[in-house]
Amino acid sequence: MSAPTDDQKTARDAMLWIELLLRQFPELLDELAPAHHSPSAPPRDTPKPPAPAGRTHAERAEALRTEQLHGLTPSGPSTAPLRLHVSDAIRDITDGVVELDEAVHDRLRLPRPRRAQVAERLLRVAALLDRATGDTLLTEHIRDEVRRMARRCTRALGAAEPVVRIGGRCPWCDSVSLRALPARRAVLCVNPACRCADRDCDCRTDPAHRHAWSEGEWARLAAESGADLTELTGATADTADREVRR
Ligand SMILES: [Zn+2]
Ligand SMILES: [Zn+2]
Repeated sequence: MSAPTDDQKTARDAMLWIELLLRQFPELLDELAPAHHSPSAPPRDTPKPPAPAGRTHAERAEALRTEQLHGLTPSGPSTAPLRLHVSDAIRDITDGVVELDEAVHDRLRLPRPRRAQVAERLLRVAALLDRATGDTLLTEHIRDEVRRMARRCTRALGAAEPVVRIGGRCPWCDSVSLRALPARRAVLCVNPACRCADRDCDCRTDPAHRHAWSEGEWARLAAESGADLTELTGATADTADREVRR
């Protein structure tokens, strides 16, 4: 057996995002129409996601606390009307899945796919991943799109985004407070008291803002914080594996 190619890894990641989306999209539909499930209705057959393994309860609680305490809420004001937020996400994901299904068929020179529900279309795309492998542009496009939609779904369901602890000390406040947010390809310092030297940086003026380093600054950050650049880059990789292990 030879090692998997980059295409195969991308396709595998895409498959995991599709599985996540298949599991979570029905939950989103339920959010929109809770009235359809009267107390007398038979229990729904959607299985609860398996208990998260790999991360301890304490770690998950810490991640959540990090978000709540430090204002790292992933999207918009929390007072936004939930239903609107949910219906927007449903529409966005539904449109995205239709477009993706059609784009994949077009690129593989297959006839235009017939109309179908989101889940069926996603399964169709999943079934074509093998054929798409070898076409790097296509596999990456599939992966990027299903990841974007899975993230949208997770956010609309109000789930916290993953936070990964990074070694080393913050160059500004000297705390062991560096965290990666893979969903945003960012590293930030979660110490609320941390201020950098840049007078214009939001960390000085906005109490909810945490100083963040974007990708171009990671090498320098690793050098100044004593973090391992490989570990730091790995912690920010936005793969579905991280979601599955949550
Ligand atoms: Zn700091
Ligand atoms: Zn700053």
